[in-house]
Amino acid sequence: MNKDRWVVKLGTGLLTKSNGEMDGGQIGLLIGQIAGLARRGIEVVLVSSGAISAGMTAIGLSERPKATSALQACATIGQIELMAEYQKHLRGHGLLGAQLLLTHANLDSRSCCRNATGTLEYLLAQKRFLPIINENDAIASDEIKVGDNDRLSAHVAALVHAGRLVILSSIDGLLTSLGPDGRVIPLVTSISDEIRALSQGTTSQRNVGGMATKLMAAEIAAAGGAETVIANGRAPGILAAIADGTATCTTFRLGRPAAED
Ligand code: GLU
Repeated sequence: MNKDRWVVKLGTGLLTKSNGEMDGGQIGLLIGQIAGLARRGIEVVLVSSGAISAGMTAIGLSERPKATSALQACATIGQIELMAEYQKHLRGHGLLGAQLLLTHANLDSRSCCRNATGTLEYLLAQKRFLPIINENDAIASDEIKVGDNDRLSAHVAALVHAGRLVILSSIDGLLTSLGPDGRVIPLVTSISDEIRALSQGTTSQRNVGGMATKLMAAEIAAAGGAETVIANGRAPGILAAIADGTATCTTFRLGRPAAED
């Protein structure tokens, strides 16, 4: 496990404005922060959602299509828009983005994993490329339905032996309650029934997942030896604050589960 290697997952809500358009300003800020981590010697693999949403905007849809093939078509169009935006900002920092599209089936295949790891290790070793991973939505209908870049990012963390998975969305972390009195729980060391009860799904037109998939991601990441941090990607300087240990966020330090016989 490499403590100076992070997987950073960006959720759709973070990358889009309230009218659904891609938020280039926000993407620029996040890329600036990732470049800042690189200068501190932290290697980053990015897992980015937002393809379906960007595709919806490009096609002119305000409502999320119901048909799987329509969602997949949105992803194929939006993925290009998304990567173009990332590349524009990365070039400004002397970096280049490198796209990998994965499915859960790929992650089940030893040879796919070996190839993906080899590619990622090569890219990271050059210190000037940012691997950007998304699900290959066009061929992965189940992933779209369960909406799972949270879990995908946890599998990626295990693949590259990352020490930390950082899931950034529009929430500050796991809250003690959903009302106005809700406070961020700073550290979770085991996922009890109580903790599970605090998670709930999302109902937005463009976002998927929610806290439930983030808890599952934390468990998968822990099995691979990584801790998981859930934080608000719109909080200024959040990635540096996480590196400094000063961020408002929830850290899941779960420890590896006991080996099964
Ligand atoms: N892969 C989907 C997209 O790029 C999102 C899935 C997710 O956010 O979990 O739009």
